[in-house]
Amino acid sequence: MADNSTIEWTDATWNPVLGCTKVSAGCAHCYADRFMERFRGVPGHPFEHGFDLRLAPAKLDQPRRWKRPRRIFVNSISDLFHPQVPEAYIADVGRVMRDVPRHTYQVLTKRHERMQQLLNGPLSWMGELPNVWFGVSVENRRQGLPRLDALRQTPAVVRFASVEPLLEDLGDFDLNSIDWVIAGGESGPGARPMREEWVLGVLHQCRRDGVPFFFKQWGGVRKHRNGRLLRGRTYDEFPAN
Ligand code: SF4
Repeated sequence: MADNSTIEWTDATWNPVLGCTKVSAGCAHCYADRFMERFRGVPGHPFEHGFDLRLAPAKLDQPRRWKRPRRIFVNSISDLFHPQVPEAYIADVGRVMRDVPRHTYQVLTKRHERMQQLLNGPLSWMGELPNVWFGVSVENRRQGLPRLDALRQTPAVVRFASVEPLLEDLGDFDLNSIDWVIAGGESGPGARPMREEWVLGVLHQCRRDGVPFFFKQWGGVRKHRNGRLLRGRTYDEFPAN
């Protein structure tokens, strides 16, 4: 919902949906939940209803007002493919992305099955948009890696994996048809630790398969102290698209 995002791999966030519900291990310390719940019950505040999922149609036009082309993270505090978001509204979001092609849109979901079903069916036109990247979160082996299989079965010009928060060693996994990998640790109160060898394992596989790698952060309770150097350097790679 903001220009000049502090998220390292994007330029701006756009939230035509607000709020969400937790679905897997990566959600346990959801930043959006913590942040939005602080304002529950504050009359007139945009987050008056806390983390309850709501559509925000007044935000639909926001990308039209941003004249300079930028990368836009779609629904940084929600999930576009959440079951409570009507299919017609997902199409409304898709039409904005189609009609304002100067921007690149990064759609990240943990509802991979619904995304796969809609983009192979009634919303197949969204999967053909050249300026829209579709990605899934991969926080662990059991819940995260099956999302990559679903993503491979989803039509998209660019497919990406957000390996954040990385909660365990992912082992040897398939990066076939994946165009970009972001990795990072959890941040904020109660942050679960991420081991260097887990990140190096992901990096190694990206190098093996020629997939661009972006290292977002180590995370931790005070993430700015831990920075984003991996073995003395930053990794800020993006897909060629
Ligand atoms: S899917 Fe994302 S926004 Fe929704 S609860 Fe999980 S981490 Fe939070």
